[in-house]
Amino acid sequence: MTVLLAALALMAVGYGTGLPRRLIGLMLVLLWLAVVLAHLVLPEGTGLLRATGGTLRGWLALGVVAVLVLGYRAGVSRLRKGALRSVAAPAQPASGPFSDTELDRYARHIVLREVGGAGQRRLKGARVLVVGAGGLGSPALLYLAAAGVGTIGVIDDDTVSNSNLQRQVIHTDARIGMPKVFSAEVAMTALNPFVTVRPYNRRLTVEEAPALFADYDLILDGSDNFPTRLLVNAAAVVAGKPLISGAIAQWEGQLGLFDPASGAPCYACIFPEAPAEGLAPACAEAGVMGALPGVVGAMMAAEAIKEITGAGQSLRGRLLIYDALWGENRTMVLKRRVGCAVCGGVHPAG
Ligand SMILES: [Zn+2]
Repeated sequence: MTVLLAALALMAVGYGTGLPRRLIGLMLVLLWLAVVLAHLVLPEGTGLLRATGGTLRGWLALGVVAVLVLGYRAGVSRLRKGALRSVAAPAQPASGPFSDTELDRYARHIVLREVGGAGQRRLKGARVLVVGAGGLGSPALLYLAAAGVGTIGVIDDDTVSNSNLQRQVIHTDARIGMPKVFSAEVAMTALNPFVTVRPYNRRLTVEEAPALFADYDLILDGSDNFPTRLLVNAAAVVAGKPLISGAIAQWEGQLGLFDPASGAPCYACIFPEAPAEGLAPACAEAGVMGALPGVVGAMMAAEAIKEITGAGQSLRGRLLIYDALWGENRTMVLKRRVGCAVCGGVHPAG
């Protein structure tokens, strides 16, 4: 009983004064050793032995139990630390720049003969800028992110509104009022955390366009107005970057790849100036079928993936027209226009 009180007092004083637990433990062990020693050396029946109470066998048993309990706790804590270490271990890239998770994620691309591991690496290394996070931008941005395009820029100065949600599927009801580029960033990083999204919450200007375009390999234009389309085209021609441009109205959409640097026409070769007021009304006035930007925006993403990986034949120098009302596609061959104010309309070779 006396020994038990002494041990309790030791612990109370030790914890109270903030002594290290190891030192308190050592003092308890010394106390136990003293009691065992007393039982071993002192003749039976002395006052000191009566004061400590118990028998030598009892005290030894207590020691064994204490060693077992402490050993078990140390073992459990070591196992826990080991488990944490194996969870926190960084995934080693299994093939080139890809982790095992990424290889699994892009497996359906990698088995495609036209993409393969090399094409997927090119997608990861690619930098694509999308102008507009609206109807066309929604599917284009989602599919570029899902495909693993490494760096995706998106520029738009608009905020998400209720009337956008009939077709702009990258945004959500809960994000009404949020700038579109940040809403798009949320959706893209939620879909694929392995890509970098760069949101630019502003309207593209003549002053900023050249420096911004210089940072990217490929430009996608999903803007909803003619002046922006002409501005994007002019900046892409100056930067020498290929431009995938899409447009939609009511039931019909079109897209093409414009690239005078490779001898193909620029957008202004085909559409030199803004149509007269009222001839090309915006979606707000003319209306647009909700799935139409889904079709054309996804086609823009598909053309971007082809352009980056080199698969198939691009829409360079062609315009694809999709008529949703009649379920028809047609393509027309485009020629550079001599005297084009933007690209000069002259083939680099002559
Ligand atoms: Zn031109």
